[in-house]
Amino acid sequence: MDKLIDALGKGKVSTSLAERKLYSYDATPIPIEREVPGAVVFPEKHEDVVKLVEVCYEENIPIFPRGAGSGLTGGAVPTDRKGVVVSFERMTHFSVDVDNATAEVEPGVVTYDFQRYVEKLGLFYPPDPSSFKYSTIGGNIAENAGGPRCLKYGVTREYVLGIEAVIKEGKVIRTGNPILKDVAGYDITKLFVGSEGTLGLLTRATLKLIPKPPARATALALFDSLEDVGKAVTKIMTSGIFPSALEFMDRDAIRAVEEYKPVGLPKDVEALLLIEVDGPQSAVKEQVNQVGSLLESMGVRVRLAPSEEEASKLWTARKNLGPALGNLRTGKINEDIVFPRTYLAQALPKLREIARKYDLLMVIFGHIGDGNLHVNFLYDKANREEEERAEKAVDEVFELALSYHGSITGEHGVGLTKKKFLKWQFGDTGYELLKGIKLIFDPKNLFNPGKMVEL
Ligand SMILES: Cc1cc2nc3c(=O)[nH]c(=O)nc-3n(C[C@H](O)[C@H](O)[C@H](O)COP(=O)(O)OP(=O)(O)OC[C@H]3O[C@@H](n4cnc5c(N)ncnc54)[C@H](O)[C@@H]3O)c2cc1C
Repeated sequence: MDKLIDALGKGKVSTSLAERKLYSYDATPIPIEREVPGAVVFPEKHEDVVKLVEVCYEENIPIFPRGAGSGLTGGAVPTDRKGVVVSFERMTHFSVDVDNATAEVEPGVVTYDFQRYVEKLGLFYPPDPSSFKYSTIGGNIAENAGGPRCLKYGVTREYVLGIEAVIKEGKVIRTGNPILKDVAGYDITKLFVGSEGTLGLLTRATLKLIPKPPARATALALFDSLEDVGKAVTKIMTSGIFPSALEFMDRDAIRAVEEYKPVGLPKDVEALLLIEVDGPQSAVKEQVNQVGSLLESMGVRVRLAPSEEEASKLWTARKNLGPALGNLRTGKINEDIVFPRTYLAQALPKLREIARKYDLLMVIFGHIGDGNLHVNFLYDKANREEEERAEKAVDEVFELALSYHGSITGEHGVGLTKKKFLKWQFGDTGYELLKGIKLIFDPKNLFNPGKMVEL
């Protein structure tokens, strides 16, 4: 600790118990293995991070990187009391090259702040995790975060052109450039995206920006059967119209948001779809009407949001789902599995069967356009027996996703909570490769040890 303070200066290393305790949590809603770290470090520039890693590598100190701590799988949580949490909240500088439509961004920049800034310049940074108002670019890159708009625009990975990171022994790696085409060598940039802090510390990213779409329009579709939702999604996605978002809420999700902050969603339906199209003003009106007619021809009731305000109310309802579910029960396991779209019509009723088998309250919502569903099991935390049933049900949910060639996670990452399931998805050979990659960047296993890959 003395070495760290010497290297970085006292103001950047906190050993206060209060701070150490506060930085030992993230937003993971279930109990996880967690320790109070030895210190919390607040680097202010790239050089601080280099010095920090040099000391930690010399002294074998585990390093737990942290953005805003909004992760849901324990990614930013320290698991070793000898370790240090590295909070990037003071590294918030960014600059935009408007002519080149790129930006250089430090990891602690809050995604929303960055998005608002570039939108004033007529540019657009699409990745929109629901946590965008507080989560950071660094955390989004480490988790390869996504949200509703990623259906049309792709997830964080699509917008990272290059990175600067500090890896083993304080060595610095810089990849990519502010260019759109680059096929030189292995794609280390993309490998770093989604690596959950296990390969090194990101200190800067070069991001791609695109022109801001001038207009958007929203429609609400109401369903009496879950199977029809799956069919409707396939119909829309093969109609020649590419929605900018296609979000799903089942009946319990609708009830939960209506009880939390009512916006007038009908509570007597089995499910709803929120559909957004964007583009030039004239095109969006026409396209949203076309989607409406297509769904009506399937017997689905459709409402078009008459104004921006109405549309924004609907999207707020969708974004309120996280806290709304918190009101239903004291415990929640929220998984974010992915199915190929064509299997949704079969998979949705099967998910309901799992909930019935374990006699659990289950709420499903999510980015159904890309097959990414948030499956939530809600239970009473004080009831250990019910919690165990929820854990068993989760195993079956992952088995179901993998049996349909899907994924155990489309957004939240693996962290601590999904390690066992990552092995299921990768198989022995794939898992060996993951371990090998980790060791090339971090032979002492000091960067976020115990997360994602078990060495
Ligand atoms: C209400 C709510 C809604 C959410 N909705 C979504 C959603 O729609 N889509 C989605 O994808 N996620 C969602 N999340 C999860 C979470 O917000 C994302 O994973 C987000 O990207 C985490 O960002 P963060 O800044 O909070 O990072 P943290 O949680 O602090 O860290 C996340 C991971 O990044 C690593 N990390 C952070 N900074 C660095 C760095 N500089 N270098 C190396 N590693 C680093 C950490 O070690 C950790 O492994 C949601 C969370 C909440 C609470």
